[in-house]
Amino acid sequence: MLQVSGFMAQIVRPTPRRGPSYSALMRAAFFEAYRQITVRDTPVPEPRSGEVRLKVRYCGICGSDLTCYKTGVLAGPDVVLGHELSAVVDVDPAGRWATGARVTVFPSGTGCGECVWCLERKFRYCLNPPDRPHGGGFAEYLTVPAENLIALAEDVDDRAAALAEPLGVALRGVAMAGPKEGDLAYVSGLGSIGLLAVSGLAAAGCRVIGADPREDRRGLGLELGCDAVLDPTREDPVRATMAIDAHGPRVAFECAGVPESLQQVFDSCGHGGTVGILGIPVAPVFLLRMTLKEQRAFSIQGPSFESMERALDLIRERPQIAKVVTGTVPLDLADDAFARLVAGDGGIKVLVAPEA
Ligand SMILES: [Zn+2]
Ligand SMILES: [Zn+2]
Repeated sequence: MLQVSGFMAQIVRPTPRRGPSYSALMRAAFFEAYRQITVRDTPVPEPRSGEVRLKVRYCGICGSDLTCYKTGVLAGPDVVLGHELSAVVDVDPAGRWATGARVTVFPSGTGCGECVWCLERKFRYCLNPPDRPHGGGFAEYLTVPAENLIALAEDVDDRAAALAEPLGVALRGVAMAGPKEGDLAYVSGLGSIGLLAVSGLAAAGCRVIGADPREDRRGLGLELGCDAVLDPTREDPVRATMAIDAHGPRVAFECAGVPESLQQVFDSCGHGGTVGILGIPVAPVFLLRMTLKEQRAFSIQGPSFESMERALDLIRERPQIAKVVTGTVPLDLADDAFARLVAGDGGIKVLVAPEA
């Protein structure tokens, strides 16, 4: 999810050369400008105090990465995106992690350590975020704080492990919405974050109605735990959900990232219900129904460390979650994969494999 000051887009600064030795080079995909990702050589980053260097196996393309790509937000000559990682430890100078250990990464900086939020360990809200020059995951290597690593179990493969971060977002969203077992839940948008929200809601015992105009996504919605699916351009979700439970949904999630969907989610959610906004709709909506129905709404910026750990457990319990990954591309095709996803014909969750 969007983390302007956090890990999502990091500035890669050339590592200062130590003496005359020539530093090793790696390939990285730089988000240089509006709709332009360019792969080029750059020095392999050196871990600073408290950091480890990872060799990236897979890095998922997030909806928030696509928002950057299609708006140009955060673009710059040294920006590498990518925060949905599976990786192996390359070097831990402190020796806590063995080289080759399989990990995923909680994507958050550590904060200044001194402000009111850091004292509560809510580093995401840090008032003075330090400028930590570790790169994003669309690169062969990156450095991250050692305390942000989460070890992978043997039975979670590297591709599925790249879903730990977005599934952690979905699970944190479900926890914040707080549905009870048997509650009706509505999910608008069955792209990757929508399908992961469906998985989390189904695991919480909800009856889930999923909505998406695309048939292939509705099919996956049913496989991942929807009780019913609908095409919101053809069927009125208010009527469809009321027919199942006259209360309407107790919880409703916006996961499509478009304003029509956000409006529909508020309109469909029942009285006293909770709306979670996990997409990034960039347009105004009319909130009179929210007032009249006394709904609550919330949004989140990313997962918690704990929700990512829960995500890894859920991937083992519900292996069908891995079906959200519909493709893998090498680094050279990252720009093409972004363009196709933005155009709507690129699949659901696409992973970039820097080693391929
Ligand atoms: Zn993400
Ligand atoms: Zn702080």
